[in-house]
Parts: sequence; structure tokens; C-alpha cells
Amino acid sequence: MSDTDGKKPLGLGGGPRSGSVKQSFSHGRTHAVVVETKRKRVVVPNPAKPGAPAGGGSSGASHLGDPSKRPAGISDAEMQRRLDALRQAKAREQEEAAKRAAEEREREEERQRRREEIETKEREDRQREAALRARAEEEERQKREAEEEAKNRAAARKADVLGTQRRQPAAPAPAAKPAEAEVPGDRGAGQSRPRPGAAAEGPAAGGPRPGTTPRKTDRERENRETDRGAARRGDEGRRTGKLTLSAATSEDGGRQRSLAAMKRKQEKARQKAMGFGQKAEKQVRDVQLPETIVVSELANRMAERAADVVKSLMKMGMMVTMNQVIDADTAELVIEEFGHRAVRVTDADVEQAIDSVEDKAEDLVSRPPIVTIMGHVDHGKTSLLDRIRKANVATGEAGGITQHIGAYQVKAPNGQVITFLDTPGHAAFTSMRARGAHVTDIVVLVVAADDAVMPQTIEAINHAKAAGVPMIVAINKIDKPSANPTKVRTDLLQHEVVVEAMSGEVQDIEVSAHTGQGIDSLLEAIALQAELLDLKANPNRSARAAVIEAKLDVGRGPVATVLVQNGTLKKGDIFSVGEKWGKVRALINDKGETVTEAGPSVPVEVLGLDGTPSAGDTLDVVNSEAQAREIADYREKASKDKRAAAGAATTLEQLMAKAKADKDVVEIPVIVKADVQGSAEAIVQALEKVGNEEVRIRILHYGVGAITDSDVGLADASGAPILAFNVRANATARGSASQKGVEIRYYSIIYDLLDDMKEAASGKLKAEIREHFIGYAKILEVFRITGTGNVAGCQVTEGVARRSAGVRLLRDNVVIHEGTLKTLKRFKDEVKEVYAGQECGMAFERYEDVRAGDVIEIFEREEVQRTLA
Ligand code: GDP
Repeated sequence: MSDTDGKKPLGLGGGPRSGSVKQSFSHGRTHAVVVETKRKRVVVPNPAKPGAPAGGGSSGASHLGDPSKRPAGISDAEMQRRLDALRQAKAREQEEAAKRAAEEREREEERQRRREEIETKEREDRQREAALRARAEEEERQKREAEEEAKNRAAARKADVLGTQRRQPAAPAPAAKPAEAEVPGDRGAGQSRPRPGAAAEGPAAGGPRPGTTPRKTDRERENRETDRGAARRGDEGRRTGKLTLSAATSEDGGRQRSLAAMKRKQEKARQKAMGFGQKAEKQVRDVQLPETIVVSELANRMAERAADVVKSLMKMGMMVTMNQVIDADTAELVIEEFGHRAVRVTDADVEQAIDSVEDKAEDLVSRPPIVTIMGHVDHGKTSLLDRIRKANVATGEAGGITQHIGAYQVKAPNGQVITFLDTPGHAAFTSMRARGAHVTDIVVLVVAADDAVMPQTIEAINHAKAAGVPMIVAINKIDKPSANPTKVRTDLLQHEVVVEAMSGEVQDIEVSAHTGQGIDSLLEAIALQAELLDLKANPNRSARAAVIEAKLDVGRGPVATVLVQNGTLKKGDIFSVGEKWGKVRALINDKGETVTEAGPSVPVEVLGLDGTPSAGDTLDVVNSEAQAREIADYREKASKDKRAAAGAATTLEQLMAKAKADKDVVEIPVIVKADVQGSAEAIVQALEKVGNEEVRIRILHYGVGAITDSDVGLADASGAPILAFNVRANATARGSASQKGVEIRYYSIIYDLLDDMKEAASGKLKAEIREHFIGYAKILEVFRITGTGNVAGCQVTEGVARRSAGVRLLRDNVVIHEGTLKTLKRFKDEVKEVYAGQECGMAFERYEDVRAGDVIEIFEREEVQRTLA
């Protein structure tokens, strides 16, 4: 070790602390630095040993300090030097500590300053809000003042600018100064420190900071540089340092800011400083809110920034991005938070396109009543309808041949037009009602005078009552000798139908569909009832109609028979109907004539649909094809959702219960095809009712139209028969059906179909096993016979004992064994039967424990085939 190297760490005492300095940095980081010193080589003449090298000897000694501790061979001068060094190091250390303390203070001040800034800002924010809320006038006044001030200042600056430009180039004005002076002035009094935001406005606007003074000259130089640059760019003319040619030309080029621009800038800066942004003119918007919405779309509709919306959602605990979908409830909260109004809209709003304006009383005109005929099977509904139609044709209509379109119009003797619905059975009537089509105004209840009230009569009464439709009772088959109309009337009383003949209010007419007797009176009664109902509609509006039948016609495509309920349906109208839509291509009336329009209560066939709607669907005329399509799409989706929801078992428990119940149920799969939708639905509804907890009919598929190959395929795959109602299989389907052995059953009467299916279902029922007791025997004694086991010696007390029969052993009236007989002996002979009073020997199959006094019960089992009720 030698001190001549001059780089020796200050470690004279040997202690490491003496030479290291602890540095502190921001964020609490520290760093220990080993301080090294570079010493000048000092030559001190040694009086004892002149010429001795200054740092050479280790033998040099000094008595400064503790001579006893002085290392041997160190001279006094050397010692002195080392001690000096030590002192210097200490002094430096102290100096550094002081510096550190100063730095620490500085940081503390900085922190304090920031705190103050934040506080000031918060205070400002608060003040701003207060000002915003309560002091609109004050604000206005301030604005005016500020404008004035800005104007003055701008004017002053302009003068200043002009002055500066004319100033000597040698006297550059520190550009930061004016800016520095302005900004605090803008913020008003009571503000000692510039805000950080303001610092950006001028290069030196940060204000003097402790410890930055030494760099001031640099800054100034910098400023000057910038100024020159700015001047070159023709930016802030007032900062011009030197008047150069380019500066002069650029000035002349008019690139200087206009007074108005300055004013605008000032105003903007002021508003920014005051925090008056768009907030001041914030608009409250009505935000359309669908069931779900994408966050960015929501922001868009509120005219807010998407980031702000995301932030507010996050505050609510929802971590979402701009592109995520949120539900309407959450969105509504956000909308409220932003101070807007949420307006909920649903998909169903597409249906609003349908004109639902109430008609004014003066627009309404009378319309014909719509009549449905109901009653028990074979009471003469069809015959009566035919008779009415024929009678009407006979009254002089041209052509005379009427087409079956499911409804037709006739004229009553008094001239009143009446619309008869030719379709519905009761099920169809109700299913139409279930779809919201209140088509029927009056129900004619047909009761056969020779049969009186029957189950379906009661059903019809209930349907009519449930629909709140007035009834007229037609007592039919009055021509029959066995007719007893009085019985009909009294029978009806039991079902709360009090006819006029029984001093009630329900009209009752005796008619005969065969002879035509009473038909006119019936029509008159209907006309009277219609008058009472005062039925009205507005023919001068877009039409609304109810579908009463729909079918897929080979030549014409989907065809729907509709009954116009309000307005007038015209050729070319665009409409939505249930889940379908269309444009009226042609209208055909009940006489088979093509018409151009159909008014209220008029039945017409409509051509031009995109698919087969369902009976009971409502047809609404809309404005455009797009609307019609939209409505149809929406309805289709909605009904799909509904079906899916209905099909899904809600709980696991329900699912399991259903599975358990299903296990024991025998299902008969069938496919139903019918000529019209109404029939198909009626059949399906009736079939669904067939069966009990053991057997049921499962409709795999039902539809309208001819049986196709795909129906046959489905039937084959599931081993189902096809039930065809008034339809036939096409050639290919017929071929493949016979090839695959698929059964197609043709019907034209619903009841036949139902009866057949009931029978089939009955066939699937397990046969019931019934027991008959055929005799009793009493055990008198028990014998033990080798090879046979215990044999009971008994006497038949009742009936007969048969060897093939089942036996039960009863002891004290408790069944202790049930089985069959091994032997039945009478005097050592095996016999088939032993009658009452006789004695016999009996042994049980695989059972020995028989005792005297036990009773044997002899019974037979019988299988009984059950049928469905
Ligand atoms: P629906 O099942 O109610 O439609 O009854 P139908 O119209 O098919 O008639 C059933 C049976 O009753 C048919 O055989 C008709 O001929 C007969 N029928 C219907 N009306 C009368 C009538 O007024 N007098 C007589 N004697 N028979 C009638």
C-alpha cells in the first residue's frame, strides 16, 4: 500500500464507514458510494531525514495524535498529512450531509408544493362546481369581465407585440416572462403557485424552483434559441429576437394571428382554467335503450366519451370493455349517472308499425255479423249450413255454385248480410280465440230435437260463454216425429241457458235442415241479435283481418282465407300475418270471383303469402315490405324462443320427475297431415287429449298438404303411421310408403280418426289382471309322506279346489304363503277338481309349513283387456 497512487480509498482508520457516502434518491432508494480522493502529492521536507521520500517510508513517526498508536515508520509530516486528509474527509462528509439535508428539504418542499397544488385544484374544482350549480348569473358576469379583460389584454399585447417587433434585435425579451405573468393573472387572486397545466403554456412557466437558479442562464439561452426559431417560423411575432428578412416577409405575409384568434385562444384558455367545458352546456338526452346494448353504442347515444362510460361501469364494479354488451338495467344506471334519460325500447316495437289508431265514431259504419255454428256431432251443423247457403243461392244469386272457402255471406230476409264461418269445430274456435282472433260475433247452437243436450253441446255452451259471445239456439230436426223441443229447452236450463220460450233472453228457433223450416226465422233472429250488438267498423283504413283457414295450394301456393275485421283489404296491400308476410296478389270471394277489395266482415281468399300462416293469426296491412318482413322475422323469433322456453324443463327436479313419469308411459307416434291448418290443429289438439298416464299419442309432425316422401321417411324412421285427413299421398310417397311398409290411414271425418287412435291406444294398455276366488278349504290334518313332503288333509268348505289354480295359505286370516299346488289328491288319485264338502289332500309347490287349522284360499287369475274411455 502506497499513498503515491493517490487513489487510495479514504480508509485510514480501516473502518469502511469513513469512506462511504449514503446517497438518497427519490422513491426511497439509497445507494452507498465509496468516496475516493485524489490527493496532490505534497513534498514536506523531513528535518530528521532530509530528502526522504514524502510517502515512501513506513518508518516515519509523528507525535501528533497518540504517538503510541502511530504506526511504526510514519513520519510526522506523513501523519500530519493523513490527519489532514481525514479531517478534510470529515468536513466533506459533513458538507455532503448538509447537502443531503438540503436536498431532502427541497424534496419535502416539492411534495408540499404538490400537495398544495392538489388541494388548490380540488378547491378550484369545488368552487367550479359551486359556481356551475348556483351561480349562472355570476358566471355570465365573469364571462363578460373576462372577455373585457381578454380584449384589453389582447389589445395591450398587440401593442406590445408591435412594439417588440420594432425593438432592437440585440434586446431579446425572455419569451416566458409574459406568459408567466399572464397565467396566474387569469386564474385570479389568491393563487401563489402556477398549476402544472399552466406550465405547458410557456417554456419557463413552471416558475422558479429552488435549486434551479444556476441553470437560469442556460434556460435564458434556450429561450432565446426558441424565440429565434419561433420568429423564423413566423409563429409568435412578439418573440422576435432579430429582424431578419424572412421574419419581415413572413410578417407581411399575414401569417400573424388575428386579434379575433387571440381572443378566441384567450377565451379557450380561460375556460379551460375555469373548468368550463361542454359541461356548462350539457344537454340531457333521451337515450333509446334496447334490451341489450354495446358499451360504445351506449356512449354514442349519450354523446359521451366511451372511456368515460367504461370508467363509470368500472366504478359500478363491472369490468367491461367498449365492445362488450351490457344489459338494459345496467345501461339505465349508467344513463342516469350521466344525467340523461333512458327510453326503453324492445324488439316488440317493430310491431308498432301496425296501425293501431282508434277509429273515430263518425268513421264507423255497420258491418255484417259473423256467425259460428256449434253443437254436438250429428245434430246437423253441416246440414244446417248447407241449407242456409242453398236457400240463399236459390234466392237468385248468379252462378249458384259456391266455393268452399271456410266462410260465406248470405242475406237475411230483411236484407241484412250475415257472414257464416264454415270451419270451426269447438277446438278450432277456441284455438283461434287463444291467438287473439275474436272472429265470432254470434254463436248458433245446434241441438237436435230428438237428442237434446249432449256433451259437445255443453262444451259449445262453455266455449261461447268463455268468449262472451251471445248465443242463439237452433233446435234442429224438428221434422222428425221423435222431436221433443221442450226437452231441449228444459235440458238447456240446467246449463244456464234460458231460452225465450222459458222466459229467458236467449232466442230459440225450431228449424229443420231437411225441410228448410224455420231457416228464415233463424236468419232473422241473427239479424236481430246483430242489431242489438251494433257491430261497426271503419272501412276507410288499412285492413286488419283474421285468418280462418290456410292451406298450401298446389297451383297457387300458400292461400289463406281471411275475414276482414276492420278497414278494407285491397289488391297490392303489403301485410304481415302471424309469422309470415306477403303482398296481396289476388283476392277471391266466397263465390269464387276475383275481387279487388274486401271490406269489414267479408271473407276472402288471399294469395301472395310467403308461407302458410295459422288459423287465428291476424293479418295487418303495413306500409312497406321491409316492415312486413321485420315483423314476421320478429314474431318467428319470438315464437321460437317461446317454444324453446316451454320445452326446457326449469329445474333438475322437474326433469327427473318427468323422466320417471315417462318411463312407464307407452307412446304411440303419429304423423298428421290435413287439408287445412284448422283441421290439422283440431286433430292435433284432440289427439293430445287421447290417452292416460300409461299411454299417450305423440305427434311427431303435423302439417298441411299432401303426404310427401319426407313424411314417409319420418314415419319409417320412428315406426309411426301417417294419419291423412282429406289429403292423399303423392305418387312417390305412395311408392316409398308401400316399399317401407309405412301405414297411411285416410280419413275424412275427425271423429273416425280419433276413434281409431283411441282403439290403438287401448291396444297399448297393459291387460288388467283380475282375480276370482273359486274356493276355500280347511286343513284338518297334516301328513308327512316320503317323497312328497307334507300333505294337508283338508276339506273344501266353499266352491271348488282346482289343481291349476293359485293358492294362498291363510293362518288366522293372515296370508303366510302364496303359490301353486303340487298335488291335489282324492283317495290317492290325482284329480283336477274337488268340490265343496269333499275331502282331499293338497301339497304346495316348494312350501312345507302347513298346519292343521290353516285355511287354503283357491283363486284364478284372468287377464282383462282395457279400453280408453
Ligand atoms: P253435424 O255432425 O253436426 O255436422 O251433423 P250433420 O249435418 O252431418 O247431420 C247429421 C245427420 O243428421 C245427417 O244424417 C243429416 O241428414 C241428419 N239431419 C241433419 N239435419 C236434419 C233435420 O233437420 N232433419 C232430419 N230428419 N235429419 C237431419
